[in-house]
Parts: sequence; structure tokens; C-alpha cells
Amino acid sequence: SALIASEVVTHSKVQTVVSPTSWPPKTDRYDVLVVGAGFAGAVMAERLARDGGKRVLVVDRRPHIAGNAFDRLDEAGILMHQYGPHIFHTNSRDVFDYLSGFTEWREYEHRVLADVDGKLVPMPINRTTLNALYDLDLKTDEDVEAFLADRAEPIDPIRTSADVVMSKVGRELYETFFQGYTRKQWGMDPSELDKSVTARVPTRTNVDDRYFTDTFQAMPLNGYTQMFERMLDHPNIDVLLGVEYSQVRESYPHDHLVFTGPIDEYFGYRYGKLPYRSLRFRHETLSQSSLQPVGVVNYPHESVPYTRITEYKHLTGQASDKTSITYEYPCDDGDPYYPIPRDENQVLYKRYEALAIKEAGVSFVGRLATYRYYNMDQVVGQALATYRRLALTWENSSEP
Ligand code: FAD
Ligand code: UDP
Repeated sequence: SALIASEVVTHSKVQTVVSPTSWPPKTDRYDVLVVGAGFAGAVMAERLARDGGKRVLVVDRRPHIAGNAFDRLDEAGILMHQYGPHIFHTNSRDVFDYLSGFTEWREYEHRVLADVDGKLVPMPINRTTLNALYDLDLKTDEDVEAFLADRAEPIDPIRTSADVVMSKVGRELYETFFQGYTRKQWGMDPSELDKSVTARVPTRTNVDDRYFTDTFQAMPLNGYTQMFERMLDHPNIDVLLGVEYSQVRESYPHDHLVFTGPIDEYFGYRYGKLPYRSLRFRHETLSQSSLQPVGVVNYPHESVPYTRITEYKHLTGQASDKTSITYEYPCDDGDPYYPIPRDENQVLYKRYEALAIKEAGVSFVGRLATYRYYNMDQVVGQALATYRRLALTWENSSEP
């Protein structure tokens, strides 16, 4: 069960970069080469080694493990997330129990406020949001339902990310909270994006101001990176950091490959590039003990170039007379962070997926390799399922 931490977060050191020139000459084969040390790669490696008894080599082009979930202590001693805020939440007991084998937890329920012309109101939209924004006194769920029903626009069928929101709350609230934010985040209008994107954010008639309502909501007590260190700490697992798949493909022979990078990259972009949206992060430490009342404040208006500011102390519960924050500036170029959910991209992905299915001896796992806008828990679930299928196949044949 989840532990509530009162002690200050401690954190182990980042793994050393292994430079290509200092590789030990390996003569032995690995059973499996895993490309990517994020959730997809680490879960696969852990299962393959610990459950399957395989010899596994994990490589990542970055100088650290944990993929986009990588966190570290900054100079002020505050545990910060290098690639933006990562809040763990899941309804899957299996996923939570699995990860609990590698970390203790700090209970944390994420709360987000949106800055609307300087006024901070709860996001997702709830009764408190409407009362604050319009100076109302809506008292019950029914009051809110009636208020929203008045404004909601009848749209059928609901296809886009604009439809989802406008059909629930009407144009004005859509424009206030979703249109500008989405245009910044994705570089396109919500009407050009699949409905699944804004459907991630519900509308509430009650006063629940939590961002998520999942059964399990907690942060790894000593951070994600330490959890990954424990997952990968096994005599059958070797980890090489700061190296490209292309650099090790030939030098480390293997029977099976687990690829968790972008699927279009794997196939040499043969059908063209799959669009991914990127972000630029601005990390700052301020000489004041706090900046904002909650972990994340969203800036939905287009006049501000960033989408949100995260203040990590809310996530970690750390005490300090300083505070560390991250601004997120969406952009096209840079590391691929978000697959972009829209029909034409899905069509292109399906062509790559068809190649992937035919690619013998390779498993494609994770957010980039399966081009799905997955949360961490979904990637863990996908990796666990992929491992189970693979283990079954190997059981039924004579090993890989
Ligand atoms: P990644 O973490 O991207 O790992 C893939 C790794 O493969 C990378 O480290 C990369 O360097 C490496 N790699 C790729 N190609 C190669 C190659 N050719 N050679 C060598 N190495 C290679 N999820 C949540 O549940 N809650 C959140 O609050 C949350 N917030 C997020 C905030 C942001 C800003 C972002 C971008 C994502 C967030 N996510 C969140 C999603 C979460 O990051 C992903 O679900 C998860 O990290 C995906 O894991 P992965 O292993 O599939 O991919
Ligand atoms: N969104 C928005 N305004 C908000 C919060 C979210 O328009 O205040 C939209 C936006 O398109 C965003 C999507 O809903 O990309 C999903 O939001 P979420 O917070 O889940 O995004 P993530 O944490 O994955 O970046």
C-alpha cells in the first residue's frame, strides 16, 4: 500500500555515461537488445531478465535512464523532472503492484489551476470554476448541468477535439480554456485534432478539483530515476548510455530486439516522417519558498507562449527556502514527445505498423514505437502484456 513520506527526498546519482570508445569488447551474445531505457524498455528488460532468465542489453542515446520520466536533484536539492511534470496515476492494480516492487510511494493528488486573465480557477472545469469565473452561486450538480446545457452546442457526430468540448460547455468556455491552449500545445486548432486529445480532460458538475480521479495516485518516493535503477539492477541486465541503436546493432549480436524509439525512424522514414510534437523546457530555481498554490498552473491564453508552469515542491513535499519550476514551450522541432492524434497520421502509422508486424524478431513497444498518446501506466501495461505474449511464444517454440 502507499506510504506517506515525511522525510526529505533523497536521490541516488545519475548513471555514468558510457562513451562508445570505452566499451568493453563483448564476445558473448545477448538474448535481447532493448533500445530505449524509458518505461517501455525498462519494463521489458526487467521482465525478460528476472522472469524470463534472458541476458539483456539496454541502450539509450540519452546519457541517463528513465526516458521522459527522468528526474534528478537540481542545484537547490529539489527533485525536478527534466522533461516536464510526470504525475503517476492509474486504475490498474496490476500496474501499480508491479511498480511497487521497485519503489515506495508518496501519496499525491494532482491539482491544476488555469490562469484566466490573472484569475486562478480550477481545471478541469468544475462548479467552483464556473462560480469564480461568472460570479455565480451554483449550488448543486443539477444547477451546473442546467447552466452547461444552456450553453452546450449540439454536435453530432463528435469527431474533433473542438466538438468534444463545445458539445459539453459551449463556445465561450471552449475558447477560454481549450482553444488557445491547444493551438499552442499542438500547433493546430482543436478542430484539426482527434477528439481523444481534449477528451482526456473531463468537465465536472461537482467541486472535485483533482486533475485525475484514478484509484491509484502517487509519486515514486525517491523519484522515477531511482525506481528505474532498481528495475534495471539485475545481473542479467547491462545498460549502455549515450549510444545510438545504429552504433550497437552489429557489435552486440542478439536473438531478439525490443525497439521503443520512433517507429518511422526504425524503418528509415521510408514512408515519410510521422509528426511528433516537441517541447522546449525552461527550468528555473527561484529564491523564494513558493510561487504558486498548486503543482501546475495552465496558461490557456495565446498571448503567453508557454502552456503551463510546474512547481515541483508540490509534487515532492520537499521543504526549502527556494523553489524550482519549469515552463513548457511547445514547438515542432526537437525530441519527439507527443504523437499527434489525427486521422492522416494514423493512416501513416498503420503503414509502418504493417511493416512492424512483418519484422521478425522485433517487438515494438511504447509511446513512440506504437505512436500512441499513452500515459506512463498505459506504457507499463502495454510492456507487461507484450512480455507475456513473447514469453508464451517462446515457451511454445524452441526458444528464440
Ligand atoms: P520514452 O520515455 O520516450 O523512452 C524512449 C527512449 O528511447 C528515450 O529515452 C530515447 O532516448 C530512446 N531512444 C529512442 N530511439 C533511440 C535510438 N535509436 N537509439 C537509442 N535510444 C533511443 N504520463 C503520465 O502518466 N503522467 C504524466 O503526468 C505525464 N506527463 C508527461 C509530460 C510530458 C511533457 C511528456 C512529454 C510526457 C508525459 N507523460 C506523462 C507520458 C510519459 O512520458 C510516457 O508515457 C512515457 O515516458 C513513455 O515511455 P516510453 O518508454 O514509451 O518512451
Ligand atoms: N487542454 C487544454 N487546456 C487545458 C488543459 C488541457 O486545452 O487547460 C487540452 C490540450 O489540447 C491538451 C489536452 O487537453 O494537450 C490534454 O491535456 P493533458 O493535461 O492531459 O496534457 P499532457 O499532460 O499530456 O500534456
